[in-house]
Amino acid sequence: MSSHVQCPSCGSRDGRKLFYTPQGGILWTPFLNFIKCRACGARFHGQTGQLDPQVPKAMRVITVLIILVFTGLFVGFAMSLSSLRRTKTSQPTAVPTITVPTPSRR
Ligand SMILES: [Zn+2]
Repeated sequence: MSSHVQCPSCGSRDGRKLFYTPQGGILWTPFLNFIKCRACGARFHGQTGQLDPQVPKAMRVITVLIILVFTGLFVGFAMSLSSLRRTKTSQPTAVPTITVPTPSRR
């Protein structure tokens, strides 16, 4: 794999692909093709060669949404578990069907 891209800052080809950035996190950075130059430490985009690339805002929004959905699922899961436990421990009270004899007057 010849994924060595020339550094736009110093011209070195000794760059390494980043797998984590504070903005992109561990979720998006592998998809963003960010390269960090080993010679000068510059960070640039592997395809466009743009220096100091920024993570698109939509990706951050999606990250927040994913976190929210996961926490929501977790809370829902925990709540359903506790409700299941509650129904198991509480014995179903058999509702006696009271048959009220209709007073039949003759
Ligand atoms: Zn460089």
